[in-house]
Amino acid sequence: MTRILLSDKLDNCVARWRKAGLTVIGPVKKETSSSYATVEKAADFDFGIVLPDRSIKGLFFPQTEPMMGYTIKKQDIATNDFAPPTEKRIIFGARSCDASGLAIDDPLFGWDYKDDFWFQRRNETVIVTIACTKADDFCMCTSLKLAPDSTKGSDVLLRPLQNNKGWLVEELTDRGREAFKEIADLLLDGSEQAAPLAVVPEKFNLDACVAWLKNPENFDSTFWKEISMRCIGCGSCTFLCPTCHCFDFQDEGDTYSGIRRKNWDSCSFSLFTMHTSGHNPRSTQSARWRQRIMHKFNYFPGKFSVNSCSGCGRCTRQCPVDMGITETLQAISTLKP
Ligand code: SF4
Ligand code: SF4
Repeated sequence: MTRILLSDKLDNCVARWRKAGLTVIGPVKKETSSSYATVEKAADFDFGIVLPDRSIKGLFFPQTEPMMGYTIKKQDIATNDFAPPTEKRIIFGARSCDASGLAIDDPLFGWDYKDDFWFQRRNETVIVTIACTKADDFCMCTSLKLAPDSTKGSDVLLRPLQNNKGWLVEELTDRGREAFKEIADLLLDGSEQAAPLAVVPEKFNLDACVAWLKNPENFDSTFWKEISMRCIGCGSCTFLCPTCHCFDFQDEGDTYSGIRRKNWDSCSFSLFTMHTSGHNPRSTQSARWRQRIMHKFNYFPGKFSVNSCSGCGRCTRQCPVDMGITETLQAISTLKP
């Protein structure tokens, strides 16, 4: 016997969680794009989206965030730190690849320096993932050894019912169990069938790619130039990616006061590695593209034992020149290590 949440109870669930002080967030479609956004009622959710255009990352690591304020008065300089937010949230309807992205980045944000902003948000947010029953041509979780029903990074996994009337509930963590206690009386016991998972064919051989990337002789291969010739360095792939995590600090203000902000950055931008002397160790777009691939599938797993990609496909789906990581890895799969 498994517990079931029926869709017609979702409005009550949202109201219960909101009453308990949780901000409820889910996939929402706006006129021209879709993202994870705050919802007030069940009708606000759009579970028909294969994947929101924007990943879940920005809810934990915002595109721009104040870290510190400063004021200068004659001989005095006063600073004040901004504290991490304490808002409690539940994300209902995350996709497995997006939840996995959070788990992939956890070791990075806790590595040489513990990022309290990331972990405060992680600790105060319940992730309820809905297993995917449909995918598009860009989805590639299986190529990354994940799946449409991966539980990585999730607190609760929901499996859509075959009859499309709700979900089977699998509570995975204490945080998830706690959130579902609020709605325990709205759940039913049952033995309904789950709908079949989305079929996501493997698009490349990851092990073959990693072997090629690890061979130092391939660092200067002409392959990099050929594969990245049309990249315009817009950085969309980085900003949409649930696992890309590079940032920069900028001071905004004047001589007397201002704010130090943490802003997303991208290895696709030429300024990312530009020295003040004007020298740029990654002076070409192909060197920057090589860095992106090497970082995700060689350097990052070398340090944290996990690839920095969850296979969401956004970098390919939304690249303005129809490039992205999939084509590169498919091409590498065919090369001799
Ligand atoms: S690969 Fe595409 S999305 Fe990424 S920087 Fe290049 S042009 Fe932009
Ligand atoms: S690299 Fe591309 S496919 Fe992988 S997680 Fe990032 S956006 Fe998704």
